[in-house]
Amino acid sequence: MSLIKQVDLAILGGGCAGLSLARELAKHDVKQSVVIIEPRTTYQDDRSWCFWAPAQHALTDWVSCAWPQWSFGQHNQLKQFKSHVDFLYQYIRSGDFYQKSQLAIQGCSAINLALGQTVQEVYLEPAGWRVATNSTTFMAQQVIDTRPPPSSLVQQSTLIQSFLGVEILFDQPTDIDVTQVELMTDMRLLDGEFCFTYLLPLSAQQLLVEVTVFAKTRPTQADLQIELDKLLHKRGWAHAHIVRTEYGNLPMGLPNGAPSTSPQPIRAGMAGGALRPSSGYGFLRIQRWAELCAKQYVDNGTLLPQTVSGFLMQQMDQIFLQALQKDSALAPVLFDNLLSQTKPDRFIRFMNDQASLLDCLHIIAHVPKIPFIKALLARQRYAL
Ligand SMILES: Cc1cc2nc3c(=O)[nH]c(=O)nc-3n(C[C@H](O)[C@H](O)[C@H](O)COP(=O)(O)OP(=O)(O)OC[C@H]3O[C@@H](n4cnc5c(N)ncnc54)[C@H](O)[C@@H]3O)c2cc1C
Repeated sequence: MSLIKQVDLAILGGGCAGLSLARELAKHDVKQSVVIIEPRTTYQDDRSWCFWAPAQHALTDWVSCAWPQWSFGQHNQLKQFKSHVDFLYQYIRSGDFYQKSQLAIQGCSAINLALGQTVQEVYLEPAGWRVATNSTTFMAQQVIDTRPPPSSLVQQSTLIQSFLGVEILFDQPTDIDVTQVELMTDMRLLDGEFCFTYLLPLSAQQLLVEVTVFAKTRPTQADLQIELDKLLHKRGWAHAHIVRTEYGNLPMGLPNGAPSTSPQPIRAGMAGGALRPSSGYGFLRIQRWAELCAKQYVDNGTLLPQTVSGFLMQQMDQIFLQALQKDSALAPVLFDNLLSQTKPDRFIRFMNDQASLLDCLHIIAHVPKIPFIKALLARQRYAL
């Protein structure tokens, strides 16, 4: 019979949320025993985390690039630019994040990162949570679950944000403007679904360039590859050296799963609703939650579920998504209006979950009214 390992806290999944919580617990020099259970044996640089933040913040040293300007525009139209003096659009390489998080965790003897272990079963017993992995059984007093939502649930989201991109390296410096990111350029419809280009100039010689689609049914990776190849060709970058590929499918408006008959652990990260439904951004929310959750655990031994949007933002996001789901042709105009007519500080507060009622009213003023009123009425009919 295998030995059962006793721990105070088991964190299921060592991705963004799991490692962020562990890093914050290490900062407090947590005394309770903590295990993070993660299937990967080594971490790869598999994603780029971007967000708006002031130049100085808790993870400033982890940021590889920061840009003062962002651009956007519809298909075949000139790009427009925006900037904000106090906020930069910032990029943390996941490779750096994984490495630095592991270093921070190693500095705390109470925390153990169990790599190469996949959680197979989790259930509550009188003595605590029994967590069975492919090689070990843990008995944990508390559990926080950051494993991704099942793909069957992601498929039921209002929309799915799918993207495929490559980080490319040129032999020579290019004349690309390294002070601005292309946030949403070439916004258009692709087979009836909203599509745009996302481009981060990492240096004059290195870029991350992605094709993104918001769709009811996610396109295949092969479909996205065709669009990405066209884009690279159009920009004259088809022969650049590919450093890495980045691919994702993010739920926009993830539904709650069916209620379970047995007790379930607290959820955090994407499955806990960390991603902003209307944008798919979640990194900053996860950082805020990790900070609060670690402090609460160290102070009084209790855990905090993933923090999500307030009621008003949730309603706005849902109406927004439903309007886009009904009529994807709206999207290029809508995002163009939103980005061009909303002041940068309002837009950043909106993206960062810090919008005031006045910010929300300004945003509502710049979206096409009829489709949104229809989506609102449809929601009310559904609620009755
Ligand atoms: C390619 C990509 C780019 C993104 N870019 C941005 C961005 O620029 N800005 C932004 O704000 N957000 C971004 N996001 C959204 C969001 O920030 C990320 O998805 C983030 O990684 C979510 O964190 P998480 O901890 O919930 O999930 P993950 O980081 O995916 O972590 C989940 C962990 O659970 C583990 N796991 C899976 N199954 C098991 C199991 N059975 N047992 C134990 N562990 C398990 C996985 O191996 C993984 O490590 C991006 C997402 C992707 C996919």
